[in-house]
Amino acid sequence: MKRVTIAVFLLFLALMCSTASTNAQPTQPRKYIAFRDDDVAPFTSLEPLEAVNQVHIDEGVPVTLGIIPHPPREGQEGNELLQDGPFHTYMGSIASNPLFEFAQHGYTHQDIAPSPEGPSEFYGRPYAAQYNAIKQGQADIKEAFGVTPTTFIPPWDNSDHTTMRAAAALGFTDYNTDFSLQDIQYGYLGGMRIEGGFTIGALNDTAFTKTILEAQNVTEQFLVDPHADTLTFAYHYWAFTDSMGAVDSHKIQQLMNFIDFLKTKGVLFTRLDRSTVTGGSEAASPSSSVGLTVATVGKCIPTPLLLVGSVSAVLFGIYGSAQRQSAPRNKPKHK
Ligand SMILES: [Zn+2]
Repeated sequence: MKRVTIAVFLLFLALMCSTASTNAQPTQPRKYIAFRDDDVAPFTSLEPLEAVNQVHIDEGVPVTLGIIPHPPREGQEGNELLQDGPFHTYMGSIASNPLFEFAQHGYTHQDIAPSPEGPSEFYGRPYAAQYNAIKQGQADIKEAFGVTPTTFIPPWDNSDHTTMRAAAALGFTDYNTDFSLQDIQYGYLGGMRIEGGFTIGALNDTAFTKTILEAQNVTEQFLVDPHADTLTFAYHYWAFTDSMGAVDSHKIQQLMNFIDFLKTKGVLFTRLDRSTVTGGSEAASPSSSVGLTVATVGKCIPTPLLLVGSVSAVLFGIYGSAQRQSAPRNKPKHK
């Protein structure tokens, strides 16, 4: 009987210790970093996409892939995501990897409805037209990869309230854009979270490096901002190329270094849909988790309550506008 009592006591002690160690940690609010890779589309060069994705695999850091379901091609009908064999095979091979979120980046990504802030696929179009285009793209992604996207990213970050209402009605829970339209505010709309991001990378080498340095400054401000819990870095895989269109290893290295810089800050890394979270102090080793381990880590960390605060909005506003002046707008390279 005594032994049982001692055993129970020891078990109780062990439980208390483990609870204490997890409770003792979060004296500081958790800080989340999300990466977003735009313009993932069929009939484009796969190498740079695979190269940047490999960085995320090696680093154990998730990324949300903004897929263009139906890029403009001469006489192309049907689901284009099924029509580029190597693209379909590659995307299918990573669809179940918890590091990769399949998000939707417009439908055609054509500038058919220019906004006051620049090119747009959706701005000012009637609700039914926007709804049907987004719905078709969502269905195409589901058909091609068996994944229903829940994050919507309007092309060029330009859209309107109608776009947001249509996306919310179609079940999207995350809407990632930036401050290009003054009347769009961060927060929630019909259960859909609206967030912004900071763009890194550029085709020009000097501009590329400059955005990384700016991103480090943005990170430092984000870390001391008590109202901001999530910072999104958006990039385009096609910017990780040299003048010949080949994968630029120096740019790839800069992304790796930037992620290593973020790791020294003890941040957590999340997909925009929040279903995978990695990093933090427990992932200090460079060979941090991939695959199943990531899923386990993700499940251990509760989905955070999001505070898309006004201070972070100001932060994004300042740096976002500086960024827009110095770097090229996201422009898909479709042949
Ligand atoms: Zn784009």
